[in-house]
Amino acid sequence: MTDTQKNPFPSKSVLIIGSGFSALSASCFLAKAGWNVKVIEKHDQPGGRARTFEKEGFTFDMGPSWYWMPDVFERFFEIFGHSVSDFYSLTRLDPSYRVFFEGGEYYDVPADWKQLAAEFEKWEPGAARNLERFLHEAEIKYREGIGNLVFKPSKSILEFANFTTLKGLLQLDLLSDFKKHVSRFFRHPRILKILEFPVLFLGATPEKTPALYSLMNFADIKLGTWYPMHGMTQIVKGMVSVAEKLGVEFIYNEEVKRIEVGSNGKAQTVVTRSKTFNATVVLANADYAHVETALLEPQWRSYSESYWNSRVLAPSSILFYCGFGERVQNLKHHNLFFDEDFSVHARKIYDEPGWPEKPLFYLSAPSITDNSISPEGKENLFFLIPTAPGVLEDDARLEHYFQFIAEKTERFTGNPIREKLMFKVPYGARNFISDYHSLKGNAYGLANTLMQTAILKPSIRSKKVSNLYFTGQLTVPGPGVPPSLISGEVVAKEILKDFSR
Ligand SMILES: Cc1cc2nc3c(=O)[nH]c(=O)nc-3n(C[C@H](O)[C@H](O)[C@H](O)COP(=O)(O)OP(=O)(O)OC[C@H]3O[C@@H](n4cnc5c(N)ncnc54)[C@H](O)[C@@H]3O)c2cc1C
Repeated sequence: MTDTQKNPFPSKSVLIIGSGFSALSASCFLAKAGWNVKVIEKHDQPGGRARTFEKEGFTFDMGPSWYWMPDVFERFFEIFGHSVSDFYSLTRLDPSYRVFFEGGEYYDVPADWKQLAAEFEKWEPGAARNLERFLHEAEIKYREGIGNLVFKPSKSILEFANFTTLKGLLQLDLLSDFKKHVSRFFRHPRILKILEFPVLFLGATPEKTPALYSLMNFADIKLGTWYPMHGMTQIVKGMVSVAEKLGVEFIYNEEVKRIEVGSNGKAQTVVTRSKTFNATVVLANADYAHVETALLEPQWRSYSESYWNSRVLAPSSILFYCGFGERVQNLKHHNLFFDEDFSVHARKIYDEPGWPEKPLFYLSAPSITDNSISPEGKENLFFLIPTAPGVLEDDARLEHYFQFIAEKTERFTGNPIREKLMFKVPYGARNFISDYHSLKGNAYGLANTLMQTAILKPSIRSKKVSNLYFTGQLTVPGPGVPPSLISGEVVAKEILKDFSR
């Protein structure tokens, strides 16, 4: 029996705009508490940035491809009486990923951290012992950060003002920067490249990222890189299945055009092109700035246009989804082409927004692990170049970059990328804007800088509209799939608390 059957006349209802991971998570928590939940999604499928598309027998995950922090997913499904394995099977990747250095030399980061420590020792005497110390600190941050602090709704500084939390905060190294922190332990440029790489997920340079985020190194090196067989979309399918069992209704191909607010300061009607909806609460998962600036009248917006313009956004990306006509050689599931100086590329993202001359890039070949996502004997390839938000590509730019990365992949790995290419589907900031109403075409929200952490992020509750809430990568705790799952839980619990009276 579903909760809706148990409770056929729930008095409280929520309309969720968008069906990204945060929305799916929130929908489950609210439905479990007996609320009537409707999710309204612009696209024809759930998952937001983790949508998929199929072409010529290939299935592409359009967004996330790194499955990190498996404990966060397990915890989510356990809350609803399930296990991850009820919905998908996970494979731990070994090596976790391949990193290409100058001239095409590479190193495969092993799943066993002790092997990594032994390799570091060869590059820099003493580095094995230092890695152990570094990871020990990183684990403390992970346990405190992911186990406790990310669950704070961050509406007020007072949430952090108790002894246990303050003690936790002191352990987190919030005031020093990631680059300095890593350089206290290591000097070898290759070690620095490997340890600074996870910070790219956080949307800012290592200099601008708090040292707290060495917790990502713990996630990378100790908890490992996993892959859900049949693709990241299996997470979405699992969450939707939990939500539907709890009675959540999904409405696809409906774009919300307006949220009408009454003179009492309450959101009253959510309007799409063809329908209107009413609910006790409106929860926006669609990009925060879009909801504020396009769906609300000016007097109901919590943040001004200049506020949004002054935010440090995570990068946008140029992506190519490619069908490759034979199996690849000399590549792993995840491959990082870090042969150039990232600080030169990063300058073009953050300081002088423009096009990097020699971009670093990421190439995923998930069909190496999973035959089901490409036709037999062929390979599913996904290239990603991080780019500056607000700088929009044209077709010539896309082609220029494709030639650049294809040539380098050919040179470093010997694969005839261009000769055996069946098709390529490009995707860039213009698509992020048209598909997701993404602010300046950002791919994954706000950068995790110190000044955009916790209470300094856009709030999960509107300051002007009493029953309007927000969830997703532009609010707490931040970008990434695991944080999005947590964001949905945090906001759902706030709604339940606020409406329990
Ligand atoms: C290319 C790329 C690679 C990434 N790689 C990784 C990775 O490897 N690992 C990782 O953990 N994270 C990764 N991320 C980040 C991660 O995917 C996101 O942080 C996360 O998916 C964001 O989820 P969200 O809940 O904020 O919602 P979103 O995914 O942003 O979904 C918002 C939804 O709202 C809908 N919407 C917008 N406007 C409207 C409207 N007016 N009406 C109705 N619906 C609307 C959109 O269609 C969308 O479905 C990646 C992101 C991208 C783009």
